[in-house]
Amino acid sequence: MPRADGYQLGDSIVALATAAGEAGIGVLRLSGPRALAIANILCGLPAARSWRPRHAYLRAFYGSDGELLDRGIALYFPAPHSYTGEDVVELQGHGSPVLLEALLAAAVAQGARLARPGEFTERAFLHGRLDLAQAEAVADLIHARSRSQARAALASLEGRFSEGIDALRQQILGALALAEAGLDFSEEDLGEAHMAAIAQQLQGVQQQLQTLLQQSRQGAKLGRGARVALLGRPNVGKSSLLNALAGRDTAIITPIAGTTRDILREEITLNGLPVELLDTAGLRQSDDPVEQEGVRRSRALLARVDWVLLLLDASSGWQAEDATILAELDAQRCTLLWNKVDLLPAFCPPELGPPSFGISARTGAGLADLRAHLRAVVGGEDSAPYLARQRHVLALEAADNALQEAAMQLHAGAEELVAQGLRDAAAALGQITGAVDVEEILGEIFSRFCIGK
Ligand code: GDP
Repeated sequence: MPRADGYQLGDSIVALATAAGEAGIGVLRLSGPRALAIANILCGLPAARSWRPRHAYLRAFYGSDGELLDRGIALYFPAPHSYTGEDVVELQGHGSPVLLEALLAAAVAQGARLARPGEFTERAFLHGRLDLAQAEAVADLIHARSRSQARAALASLEGRFSEGIDALRQQILGALALAEAGLDFSEEDLGEAHMAAIAQQLQGVQQQLQTLLQQSRQGAKLGRGARVALLGRPNVGKSSLLNALAGRDTAIITPIAGTTRDILREEITLNGLPVELLDTAGLRQSDDPVEQEGVRRSRALLARVDWVLLLLDASSGWQAEDATILAELDAQRCTLLWNKVDLLPAFCPPELGPPSFGISARTGAGLADLRAHLRAVVGGEDSAPYLARQRHVLALEAADNALQEAAMQLHAGAEELVAQGLRDAAAALGQITGAVDVEEILGEIFSRFCIGK
């Protein structure tokens, strides 16, 4: 199956399945029609030697010059009962980067091609071992940054999300069959009963789709984590707060105004939800081109965050510049933080609209309350039934729109258009699991995997 990018399903591919670096064990994985023949040569055996499936052999591994490299475990998973659905061989040797590189080179010398990122999983998808949403869940599980993410990614990999999508798609196809049956008899009076039956099915699928949409939005949010921007005049303590929340010394903290010129990122986990904190250069007017660039980036960033923390200096009080910044913010998505309360004998935040807290990045006062508040505003749930991606949410939204269109057309009595709406909805859902043609998005999805998976 040659593709425009030179992809050949008939190739035998090879990669190290374990991370680069020294480790107890390192695994080289081969997949494809020649996997076993190549493995035999690497193990110093006749190319046609057959292996017992899923049996752990202790074998010698040889380099391309025939020199003994290592001795380790060799396993054979014959097609179609393997990860990729093809013949797969795993050679498990000592986790020495030098030996593993030599073994990899020997496999390539015998005709294996180095696998592209995600190619093992892409093959699993192309051979029907996983659907597309499950294949994506493999990558999400590997890249999970919290237990909640890992748990939700596993649920997707186990097929919980795909099952919901497939069931809904089947029901839509059922309603479509009903609508199309009506089209075949278009000359006759279909009658109220037929229309009512379609209407009832349509209503049922619309309701289920709403549930799936809401769950996948939750799953997508858990997957990407929340993004929170820290804003405020120079020197109010943004970098200090970022470090205090992250428990690390990342930013350069100096008492000179305008030190933080670039956007600093720090990831914290709030009760299972990864939160990316972005410390921006602020929105201060400046003649310095470097600072102006920082301000421009801060503005662009604001459009993409879930929440904004506007930091104020409690020791100097409310300033005109603070008001200018607040005016640029969405009051529904921001919290005012009065920092440096340690410099005052007592502090009570003034009432300015958005929720307000008194904190000290230096002493840590008020930070526990701030964390709880942030957790509540950026993501109420600390779990999702499964992990989803923005791609899935968009497809569900497209299906939702198509179903609304179908319902409207049904009301208008235009059955042909009802059928079209249902067809569009089924196609949109089919893109999620790869049940309909998704060739053009495969490269995009699998290129983000790591090599060897
Ligand atoms: P930024 O420009 O907003 O990033 O501010 P920095 O984090 O660089 O802090 C500016 C100055 O304020 C530094 O000297 C910090 O040590 C000081 N600072 C930050 N937070 C606090 C705080 O909670 N209390 C006190 N007393 N000083 C603070």
